[in-house]
Amino acid sequence: VLVIFGIRVLYRVVGRGLLHCQRCGGDRPYRHRAGRHWLTLFFIPVIPLTKAGEHVQCTECGTCYRMGVLDLPTVAQMQAALPAGMTAAATTMLRAGDPGSSLARRRAISAIREAGLEGYDDDALTADLALAAEGIEDEQAPLASLAVQLALPAAEWFLADVVRIGLADGPLTAAERRAAAEVAARLGMTPAHARGVISMTEESATA
Ligand SMILES: [Zn+2]
Repeated sequence: VLVIFGIRVLYRVVGRGLLHCQRCGGDRPYRHRAGRHWLTLFFIPVIPLTKAGEHVQCTECGTCYRMGVLDLPTVAQMQAALPAGMTAAATTMLRAGDPGSSLARRRAISAIREAGLEGYDDDALTADLALAAEGIEDEQAPLASLAVQLALPAAEWFLADVVRIGLADGPLTAAERRAAAEVAARLGMTPAHARGVISMTEESATA
């Protein structure tokens, strides 16, 4: 009797999600596939053997990527990072100063709108300040994911915008200055660099 043995790798889908597919050039659904070697008998898998690696595959074009591709942000995440980061930084700055100051609030709302949240208003700001006060929202997380994406000139521009919120109702207080330094640190700027941007923004505000 002729018995034909063989070894084959079979994949099964262990997860799904959205990735930025470089081949397609956009956000696409993916499947996360895990492989296993199987002993086959007459080409039919009968005994599972060792694991054979895993990858993610774009379901649109079929390109397979290493798992690390999931660490890269999708376009949707990148678009969300700027308004989320600005909201976190603006509430940090307002809380360091006077969160009730209408000048500072107006400045914060316009900075958040310019960052992409067009419908952002005073009620939304009140809600975000309440969340920040309760410590429900992690204020650092949105800034950390934004820092990955912002090139240095953009980080300076971002910090200057945050400083102008603090300056809207008068010179920076010590607490507001600390808040600006904190935001800068989370964006990956050195303290000296941050001081430079902060004082330049102060000078241009009084000029
Ligand atoms: Zn693709």
